[in-house]
Amino acid sequence: MAKMPLLQIGGITDDMATKLETDFAPFPLLEQEDRAAFLADRGAEFEAILTNGHYGVPDDVAAATPNLKVVSSYGVGYDAIDADAFAERGILISHTPGVLNDEVAVTAISLWLAVYRALVPADAHARSGAWEKGEFPLTRSPMDRKVGILGLGRIGETIAAMVKAFRAEVHYHSRSKKDVPYTYHATPAALGEAVDVLIVITPGGPETQHIVDAEVLAALGKGGCLINVSRGSTVDEAALIEALQNGTIAGAGLDVFEHEPKIPQALKDMPERVVLLPHVGSATMETRAAMGDLTVRNLLQWKKDGTVETPVPECRVLNG
Ligand code: NDP
Repeated sequence: MAKMPLLQIGGITDDMATKLETDFAPFPLLEQEDRAAFLADRGAEFEAILTNGHYGVPDDVAAATPNLKVVSSYGVGYDAIDADAFAERGILISHTPGVLNDEVAVTAISLWLAVYRALVPADAHARSGAWEKGEFPLTRSPMDRKVGILGLGRIGETIAAMVKAFRAEVHYHSRSKKDVPYTYHATPAALGEAVDVLIVITPGGPETQHIVDAEVLAALGKGGCLINVSRGSTVDEAALIEALQNGTIAGAGLDVFEHEPKIPQALKDMPERVVLLPHVGSATMETRAAMGDLTVRNLLQWKKDGTVETPVPECRVLNG
């Protein structure tokens, strides 16, 4: 069987490469010395792209691949792909929903606990020997809190289920009100006002750009804690820094940033109140393996019958 050329954007695991090798011949774009020349020479050969949520499909690639039919993206967030434009071109896009819900929820809750119980400064206190000179200050209990979930989708619902173990009262805001036993708020600010901890887990992109702004942070208020495991674009980072510096809110746990991998120095300078992670929401061996499997399955299924297992909503009508 002839192998089909596959334009690969970003890295893939050995396991993914092995599962693809009978059907596809990957061409890693980022390893090409002259990207523009490569795309001009070979772009028309590609009917399939394998990418990830970080790289998406850049404009130069979209323009250089007139025969493109499918994009399989590793990751659930696809804000780096212009899904409407691709759907209009008749191109199927798949992503990896569901398989990472538990891991991202665990990351969100870990950030919340790390901020509340000051785990990072407490570790520094123990490690540095400061403990020999004095006790570590008391922290705040995460039990019996009001937890707000901004974006009650697949991951948001998983977070809601998990925080029940902390006897949390769950509140949420989404585009639509759901049939769930949690309290709905019509705006992000109303949600912020109602809760102690606000966990952001919407998609990124223009619709949710700065959905957490100065108004939402003011509503969250003194003592409030912001957790962001969605995309850096959802939080107005300048407003967040100001809110932390002025004591408008008490703390933050952040896995994502507006200009990744750059993190503003001001956030790094508040280790006692701000916990920072390098976008590792789903980054365990087990979950990344499951994401890799689904990414590959989508390509193999498409090669077999022209459909994918997990299309993005914008492309569902194209899926068979
Ligand atoms: P879903 O599509 O299942 O859920 C998204 C939720 O966000 C839905 O409840 C949706 O509301 C809500 N939402 C969308 N747009 C808006 C808006 N404009 N205003 C208010 N609410 C909105 O996605 P997942 O739960 O699977 O994933 C969510 C996001 O998490 C991903 O898109 C990705 O960006 C991020 N993510 C981050 C990771 C990390 O490493 N930190 C890892 C994985 C995902 P409604 O239900 O009403 O449509």
